[in-house]
Amino acid sequence: MSKYRLVRDLLDADRFFRFECARLADPGIVALAHDPGYVRQFLEGSLSASAIRRIGFPWSEGLVTRTLASVGGTLQATMDACEYGWGGNLAGGTHHAFRGEGSGFCVFNDIAVSIEWLRSQGRVRRAAILDLDVHQGDGTAQIFEHDADVLTISLHCRSNFPFRKQISKIDVDLSDGAGDEEYLSALDMMLPRVFAFEPEILYYQSGVDGLESDSLGKLALTHAGLKERDRRVMAAACAHQVPLVVTLGGGYSNPIQLTAEAHANTFRTAQEIFFDHAT
Ligand SMILES: [Zn+2]
Repeated sequence: MSKYRLVRDLLDADRFFRFECARLADPGIVALAHDPGYVRQFLEGSLSASAIRRIGFPWSEGLVTRTLASVGGTLQATMDACEYGWGGNLAGGTHHAFRGEGSGFCVFNDIAVSIEWLRSQGRVRRAAILDLDVHQGDGTAQIFEHDADVLTISLHCRSNFPFRKQISKIDVDLSDGAGDEEYLSALDMMLPRVFAFEPEILYYQSGVDGLESDSLGKLALTHAGLKERDRRVMAAACAHQVPLVVTLGGGYSNPIQLTAEAHANTFRTAQEIFFDHAT
């Protein structure tokens, strides 16, 4: 949990970004992508012990606040993306949350909620999700499995959690130990497919748990490799004029400062790409 503050402090020291507190998401909006019963039970604290175990955090009022703020941040980043071309949330990317249950430290699927909210407003019809966390975006894949207007793409490590994979529209799985070169060439194969879909908005789950130092990741990416990954994604979104929403996702390096640096680099790269473009 300490990485969230570290990332914010690193970016604050850059003196470039203006931060806004995330507002709590309205439970009615959360229920656009989740079973209303699941939403209610989580908010009330009445989920079963096994459902809480699957999420992985003990239930508390603080967890409820944090969870709603995390979704609220992605909703605000979505509005920024629609207005300015891109927006970011220094949390979110909770892609293991399914429609009716949470898992793997994910309670609600902030990206799925944001897409359903945009569509409920008639703002977009087609959306894409590029999930580059080292773990498969299984909850996201399940939520949109039968939805032809949402492209779900996951590039992950085959042997990692979740051990029972779901079916994204596009899945690319890498072997243990894959490095920058293999990773970036896989990304290069995927990016044209993202834009061929002609999404009206692109959500980027920018997990950095593919880093070599990550305790859960099993890949061997470097900081430079991750920066190049981010640059290619953002430059492509910019070139195609598709609004981009950046969410954090996973990262569990030991020491955790290595993860925080990689997350901060994602936002620094966004600054370079989108600021240069604007000027
Ligand atoms: Zn992950």
